[in-house]
This record gives sequence, C-alpha cells and structure tokens, in this order.
Amino acid sequence: MSSIALKSFTGLRQSTPEPSHFNVPLPLARHQRFKVSASKSSPKLTNRNLRVAVIGGGPAGGCAAEMLAKNGIETFLIERKIDNCKPCGGAIPLCMVGEFDLPLDIIDRKVTKMKMISPSNVAVDIGQTLKPHEYIGMVRREVLDAYLRERAEKNGAMVINGLFLKMDLPKNQEQPYVLHFTEYDGKKGGLGEKKTLEVDAVIGADGANSKVAKSINAGDYDYAIAFQERVRIPDEKMVYYENLAEMYVGDDVSPDFYGWVFPKCDHVAVGTGTVTHKGDIKKFQLATRNRAKDKILGGKIIRVEAHPIPEHPRPRRLSDRVALVGDAAGYVTKCSGEGIYFAAKSGRMCAEAIVQGSENGTRMIDEGDMRNYLEKWDKTYWPTYKVLDVLQKVFYRSNPAREAFVEMCADEYVQKMTFDSYLYKKVVPGNPLQDLKLAVNTIGSLVRANALRNEMEKLRV
Ligand SMILES: Cc1cc2nc3c(=O)[nH]c(=O)nc-3n(C[C@H](O)[C@H](O)[C@H](O)COP(=O)(O)OP(=O)(O)OC[C@H]3O[C@@H](n4cnc5c(N)ncnc54)[C@H](O)[C@@H]3O)c2cc1C
Repeated sequence: MSSIALKSFTGLRQSTPEPSHFNVPLPLARHQRFKVSASKSSPKLTNRNLRVAVIGGGPAGGCAAEMLAKNGIETFLIERKIDNCKPCGGAIPLCMVGEFDLPLDIIDRKVTKMKMISPSNVAVDIGQTLKPHEYIGMVRREVLDAYLRERAEKNGAMVINGLFLKMDLPKNQEQPYVLHFTEYDGKKGGLGEKKTLEVDAVIGADGANSKVAKSINAGDYDYAIAFQERVRIPDEKMVYYENLAEMYVGDDVSPDFYGWVFPKCDHVAVGTGTVTHKGDIKKFQLATRNRAKDKILGGKIIRVEAHPIPEHPRPRRLSDRVALVGDAAGYVTKCSGEGIYFAAKSGRMCAEAIVQGSENGTRMIDEGDMRNYLEKWDKTYWPTYKVLDVLQKVFYRSNPAREAFVEMCADEYVQKMTFDSYLYKKVVPGNPLQDLKLAVNTIGSLVRANALRNEMEKLRV
C-alpha cells in the first residue's frame, strides 16, 4: 500500500513540476477564486473561435462541455454510448446539487441515515448530526449523465455519438489535433462510419480506460475493481432503505475497501471493491450480499456491473493542449471511492481555464493555460485526497482496526466532521478541544485494536 500512496502524491506533483503548491496552508476558500492568466501573447483567432473536443460524456465530460459551449468555445462532445449506464453506486454530495444546479427529480433518494457495520456486525448509525435540509443524493448514472450531456447540448455543444480511436498530435503551435473516431448514426448496420475532426485542444474525460491518456503517454495508475449488483427487493423491504444506506467493513467483504447497499428508485445497489485481491471480487460480493441478506431477502438481481476505479492520479495529466479530467486523470478519493463530484468539478475547472486562457474562444491557448487548471485543482483538493488516503491506511488494514473505526464513527463530533467534509467538500476546521478528545479516543481504539490483533495472532500460532 505504501508504494501506492507514494505514487499517488508523486502523481499529483509530476504534472506540475514548476512551483509546488502542496505546502500552501488552509483555508482553501482563498485558492478557489478564479485566477485570470490568459496567454496574452498567443495569437488571436480570425474568422473562427477556439475548437475544443471533449472525449467522454460522463459527469466530467458533460460539465466540461457545458462550460466551454456557454463561453464562446466551439465544443464537440464525443460519447461512444449515449445511453451509457456507468457502473456506479451513484452517491453524490449535497454541494454538487447546488453547485451544478441539478434538478431534484434526477435524484432517486435523499439519504439521511447511514449505518456503518463492523466485521462483527456491530452497526453504528451515522448521520445523526445532519441538519433537516442535508442529505446524500442517490442517482442512477444513466439519468445523471444524460441530463448533464443534454444540458451541454442545449448550451451549444455538438454531441457526437462516436468512439474515439486515436489522435494525430500537432507538430507546432499552429497545427490542430486530428481526432479519429467512429461515428454511430444508426446507419451502416450499427457499424458506424470512420471520421476525423480537427480541433485546437482536447479534454480527455473518457474514464478509467482513457484512450486520450494513452495518446499522450500519460502513464498508468493502480486501480481497484468494483463490482455491483442492482437488486430489486420487495416493497416492504424497500421501506427500510427508504432514506438509508449501509456500509459494511470486514475482511470478508473487502480486504482494503468497503461493501455497500445504496438505495435507488426501485432497487438497491449492492457492491464492493478491492485493489489487492481483484481475483476474489465475486467472493467479496457474495459476502456483502450475505451480510445484508435478511434485509434484501426475496430480492431479484436485475443488473450486474463492474468497472475499474483509479487509485491515484496518473503520472502526467496534461501534455501541450490536451488535459485529462475525472477518472481519466485519476481523481477518485481513497477510503470512500468517491469520484462523481470530482469528475464534474475537474471537467468544469479545466474548461474554465480554457475559457480564460482563450479569452472566451478568441485566442489560441497553450500548455500554460491548461496548467492553470492543474495548479488550481491540486491546491484545492490535495488535502482532501491526503486525509482520505491516511484514513484508509489506518483503518482498513485489519478487522480489529475496522472495529475501532466503526466504534469511532459513533462519536457525534466525528460524524459532524465527516459529513461536513463530505457534503460540502471543504476540509472543515475543527474544535481544538474536541480534536484532542478525538485523538485520545482514536489512539485508545487503535491500541485496543492492536492488542486484539496481537492476541489473535498468538492464538493462530
Ligand atoms: C461500482 C462503482 C461504484 C462507484 N460508486 C460511486 C459512488 O457512489 N459515488 C461516487 O462519487 N463515485 C463512485 N464511483 C466512481 C465514479 O463512478 C467515477 O469516479 C465517475 O464515474 C468518473 O466520471 P468520469 O466522467 O470521469 O468518467 P466516466 O463516468 O467513466 O465516463 C466516461 C465516459 O466516457 C465514455 N468513453 C470512454 N471511452 C470512450 C471513447 N473511446 N470514445 C468515446 N467515449 C468514450 C464512456 O462511455 C463514459 O460515458 C464508483 C465507481 C464504480 C466502478
């Protein structure tokens, strides 16, 4: 695990080799202000506006394309599957609803109760500190992604149903990128038609198996494999999950992650993930289902899905006028496995940097403009990634540590800090006295966990 962590933060650094901003202190809010640093020396475009292709129409691509199209950029959004149903738990933080102006009817459930369930099945209710208007949104990805893409289209983006294949890189600043893709328009028996498109810049929002990343030799990342089943359960069982989600921890459900049951409109999503034991994922899935079995009894599996989840950013996230966002860049947090908000946010931030650098599409951009996005991203979110990385290392390493983790979750102060950070995506400043109490309690829990582990190891000899 330590090598993964090292890479993760090396990954964040490598693409911004110039000044390092990682020691910039909080508060973050100050860094979130928009920084104008257009490449004023770059040539003015005549007779046309800047042309940008966004590859991939998930949350990262949809939000990038909307921002570009709204602000004077000629925008092409290439998505291989317009009705794509991305395998995903679909949990989104409250702040995403406001920041991205999401209509409430695309949210299946508002979760206000969460049960954290330990290896020995001790269940702790978390979410007791939520205020009446606070909740975790549960969406189906086919609904969210379609909404964001359609909104981009309404704002002027040209949405192309096509599979991006490769691109020819420009030899100088004046030349375009030539994208090769197969366009599907219902003709040619569904085989599609090979096409090319010339653009000035490219945003790679094509997820964990990104072809754009390969095109710019962005390097690989470690990944988890996550598995999920959509289970339709009887109505009377669904009442229990009305506004409640469950998280299970334990060696049985995952050696390094957690299992979940998340409620959706007419079913629950049951899933788990792992980096270290990918070959055993089905065994972990079965264990997750078994742990929840009384509550999902009589359920029917209506869909089985699996997909990689990046563990850390790629070694490179930009090259010249190409930048990666969302899962293509590797922006999923450890511990929680959250990536939807970060995908949408990075897509939007990258697009903002292009809009600013090109002065609303009137000038050519260069790598410096793209780099503004990366610098802002790293300054804003690095602490969040760091904290969750440490939490995962401390608490997901053994069953005794997980028992300690669940015990700690019973603390109202921990719940408040966790939910505030999750719902609003801000590292919340704590109360020094409460922090001290928490530190003492955490050490106490971990010492107990270690002692327990030592005893168990002795028994094994
Ligand atoms: C099982 C599972 C559960 C998860 N649960 C949660 C959760 O509850 N909450 C959360 O926040 N995150 C969750 N995540 C992570 C989350 O799904 C991702 O972080 C998020 O989808 C990233 O969005 P994105 O837009 O970057 O990429 P994606 O959502 O992967 O979108 C990429 C898009 O690009 C398209 N594409 C790919 N290649 C090409 C190509 N060559 N040409 C054209 N189009 C292409 C794809 O069809 C897709 O639409 C989960 C992930 C998994 C696997």
